[in-house]
Amino acid sequence: MTTTNKKLSLALHEPRIAGNEWQYVKQCLDTAWVSSVGAFVDRFEAELARRSGTKHAVAVVNGTSALDLSLRVLGVAAGDEVLVPSLTFIATVNAVAYQGATPVFVDAEESTFGMDPGVLEAFFGRETEMRGGACVRKASGRRIAACVPVHALGYPVRIEPLLDSCRRRSVPVLEDAAEALGSTYRGRPLGSFGRLGALSFNGNKILTTGGGGAIVTDDAELAKRARHLSTQAKSDGDAFWHDAVGFNHRLTNVAAAIGCAQLEQLDGFMKRKREVAELYRKLLAGSPLRLAWEPEGARSNCWLNTLIAPTPEDGARVLAALRARGVGARPLWAPAHRQPMYAQSPRAGGLEVTDRLWRCCVSLPSSVSLTDEDVSAVVEIALGG
Ligand SMILES: *Cc1c(COP(=O)(O)O)cnc(C)c1O
Repeated sequence: MTTTNKKLSLALHEPRIAGNEWQYVKQCLDTAWVSSVGAFVDRFEAELARRSGTKHAVAVVNGTSALDLSLRVLGVAAGDEVLVPSLTFIATVNAVAYQGATPVFVDAEESTFGMDPGVLEAFFGRETEMRGGACVRKASGRRIAACVPVHALGYPVRIEPLLDSCRRRSVPVLEDAAEALGSTYRGRPLGSFGRLGALSFNGNKILTTGGGGAIVTDDAELAKRARHLSTQAKSDGDAFWHDAVGFNHRLTNVAAAIGCAQLEQLDGFMKRKREVAELYRKLLAGSPLRLAWEPEGARSNCWLNTLIAPTPEDGARVLAALRARGVGARPLWAPAHRQPMYAQSPRAGGLEVTDRLWRCCVSLPSSVSLTDEDVSAVVEIALGG
């Protein structure tokens, strides 16, 4: 084996630009259709909807905007509360704060890294009641206006029991599927289970437009309203009348052109990423380091391979060893309830699993461009070889 101490240079996740990106961008530049109206925007939206198994897709400037606009069209407003995981990228929680609403944190479960349906149902039963058709948290007297489960790292949350709990309290569900384009649960694409789903095409996601995002939904009215808000809520053709405080959050045609080319390669990306994930799994089998894996019934896009170390100390040691050798390993997101803005936010129970996963997990390089030798070298360092 290669037990040299050669410095590696492996990014956590880098994009692959290897298809029709140049050609499609050139078409935009040659025709001067570079801005937020254009054939590539329409085509990207149509293909995203098809891929997500939804009737509509609305392309926007980033995943954060997709979450923000989705909460807005669901009617989340100042003084409301919204159920979110604490173990997520901060954008999920910030989107709630943008509405003037308060996040209420729900613990994760280790098998999915996502919101724990048992914790959610117990919270609803213990701490909420229905008042005039709305689910109200008894301690605050405020309405729970939405629930935003996150499909972390490409793995689906246990979406069915979550949907069931929320449906019985008339709480709409927005799926944060920013990391999960291409993943399915029982054959159905993630993002298509809730009223709305939010996608991201940031540079580190499985598919990139440089920066970009989309809302997917079957609901024509919600899609129309989101598109309207993303284009300054213009109420007529050209006379500058607006019927709401809108945003300039449409995706540009140039970014959508890159997105169309990337979508053509998505199946190939997923194939290689699965091979990488399976190799990690094989090489780690029998060691104390466990690789997070797709739960029963799920097909993950294998976006970001993540180790669960037996203790926080082991996790820290593995992370330091990898980084010292030039491997772009990362800890999981510091949980939202540990951030200064959200330290005082209410909680739907304890957050012990969130804290433990945060401290014990290490995300490993997962780019499509990794070779089998790269994967072996990473595992060898992680295991202290
Ligand atoms: C990336 C990400 C977002 C935000 O998407 P951007 O395009 O970076 O704004 C939201 N939620 C999760 C879980 C993400 O990973």
